[in-house]
Amino acid sequence: MSTADLGPDISSLSRKLTLPARKISRADAEEAVKTLIIWLGDDPSREGLHETPARVTKAFSEWFSGYQQNPEKILQKTFAETGHYKEPVILRGIRFESFCEHHMAPITGVAHISYLPDEKIVGLSKLARIVDVYAKRLQVQERMTAQIADAVQRYLNPQGVAVMIFAEHHCMSTRGVRKHDVDTITSQYTGVFRADTALKAQFIQMVVGHPPE
Ligand SMILES: [Zn+2]
Repeated sequence: MSTADLGPDISSLSRKLTLPARKISRADAEEAVKTLIIWLGDDPSREGLHETPARVTKAFSEWFSGYQQNPEKILQKTFAETGHYKEPVILRGIRFESFCEHHMAPITGVAHISYLPDEKIVGLSKLARIVDVYAKRLQVQERMTAQIADAVQRYLNPQGVAVMIFAEHHCMSTRGVRKHDVDTITSQYTGVFRADTALKAQFIQMVVGHPPE
């Protein structure tokens, strides 16, 4: 399998962030939001904006909570009682929200994940949570797709994993070229999904509703 990185090492990152010598506090982050409001041309002390920096940092804590999540822990609990189930498991239509790392603009989309079990299975909600571990970070769709596939392959160790993501990038629809309703489609395959074209075709058919063209 690929050894693509599974996300930043938080401890080494926080060491970087504490340079020169202190941790960035929530108050620092609120101050930064206040600076942005002033830069936009508004008055952060007026009634409607007075509590906005606190609300924004609270919202950011939720939107970027993936940095605090550990995919290995999420996939730790598995079940061996599969009744000799031998076919792929597919989760279709996992909605997610993320933010592009180039503009911090929303990315909204749907992820589809399949894996072919190798003697053990995992709770289905855990796969949906893996999507959020990586979606709730600053992202590019290509890397997010690879990280989800690699995490499931590495920590669940099935015979193979398939991931396909359809997303709209708001940095493209609301600014710049302003193109609406453009889906960016990415996919990543590991193990048997990479080797077996019929298995891959079956996954694509189940996701898009017709055989690959
Ligand atoms: Zn962007």
